[in-house]
Amino acid sequence: MLKNIALLGSTGSIGTQTLDVVAGFPKDFRITYLTGHTNTTLLLEQVRRFRPRGVVVFSDAAVKEMKKNAPPGTEVLLGEQGLLDIVQRQDVDIVVSSLVGFAGLRPTIAAITAKKKIALANKETLVVAGEIIMPLVDKHHVDLLPVDSEHSAIFQCLAGELPNKVDKLILTASGGPFRTKPMAELQQVTLEQALKHPNWSMGNKITIDSATLMNKGLEVIEAHWLFGVPPERIEVVVHPQSIIHSMVEFVDGSVKAQLGIPDMKIPIQYALTYPSRSPSRFPRVHFPSLGEMTFFEPDRERFPCLQLAFDAIKEGGTMPAVMNAANEVAVAQFLQQKIGFLDIPRMVRSAMEQHSNLANPSLEEIVTTDSETRALLQSQKVS
Ligand code: NAD
Ligand code: MG
Repeated sequence: MLKNIALLGSTGSIGTQTLDVVAGFPKDFRITYLTGHTNTTLLLEQVRRFRPRGVVVFSDAAVKEMKKNAPPGTEVLLGEQGLLDIVQRQDVDIVVSSLVGFAGLRPTIAAITAKKKIALANKETLVVAGEIIMPLVDKHHVDLLPVDSEHSAIFQCLAGELPNKVDKLILTASGGPFRTKPMAELQQVTLEQALKHPNWSMGNKITIDSATLMNKGLEVIEAHWLFGVPPERIEVVVHPQSIIHSMVEFVDGSVKAQLGIPDMKIPIQYALTYPSRSPSRFPRVHFPSLGEMTFFEPDRERFPCLQLAFDAIKEGGTMPAVMNAANEVAVAQFLQQKIGFLDIPRMVRSAMEQHSNLANPSLEEIVTTDSETRALLQSQKVS
């Protein structure tokens, strides 16, 4: 049966790759809504090609441009309210949540309460509010399907297994562009170097998160909530080839891994076609030409963000939201070349140290914590 998709963040890296996947299955999927933040030109191209019923934009100028240039009859909605509106509509079966950052939180919650199937790329949502989201997922009996390659891998390894027979989740990390860079050189790395990820082409924010290993920290928290495994039983191993996307170790010592070439279209397609699988033309792993696969312990001294994430989830409450907000501010400043690379973990640590943690926060308390952390960091100079 044809499934209708609302694609949040269609102009981004996951968004455009989702459209590539959808284009290959015209009988299975139809795009009913697209949303984009600033790149109205690309959004307009996508609207012309995929002919959604509606589109969400984020400025009055973009509303005007869409109304003028989109195919007649395309509904144009504005801002977060527009996102909250479309995800609940009858003509949406699947919501692909691929906004970046905290902005994904409310639309994802709205999609869950409207009982939509969700393909979740936006990991920040679970990082800041996993404690609220997972009970909602249970309550509304929705499928929350991971798009993140590590979580898709674990999800696939867990198929047919009993949760109480899992000993450990092992998340693989590429190690990013500075895997072998000495500590003394890290503060001076340039934006251009940090944006050059060895294996994946992604949006700017997650690319910087991969360079600091904050991305892996966020993923540890994401895995904790998605699979109900405590952080002490989640390990990170650096695997520079990014062929093994993650692993699960069971009580009998057996380990299952999921492998594939590093291409996000594979986990995107799996989330869309789950519980089935569909043929694809993606390149395949050719083991003889791989030569070798290597594994290393992550260096938590050179990459303190990983440890900060373990600390944040151990504290729980509003601490992960503080960590996430501080990281978003710091990464934005690094992208604007206002701070150095090691200032990112410094800012995150400083915000976490200044925070009085609040246990079992409500959604509103999480939202307030997020805004307060951003305000605090914007008012402070990096020490
Ligand atoms: P991106 O920056 O390329 O795209 C983000 C999308 O969200 C864009 O369409 C943008 O217009 C929209 N957006 C940004 N800010 C917004 C706001 N305030 N309000 C509304 N819309 C907004 O990001 P991405 O790399 O596609 O990542 C998206 C999410 O997926 C992130 O949470 C990331 O961690 C996760 N993820 C990405 C990859 C990847 O390969 N890119 C892999 C795994 C997980
Ligand atoms: Mg990932």
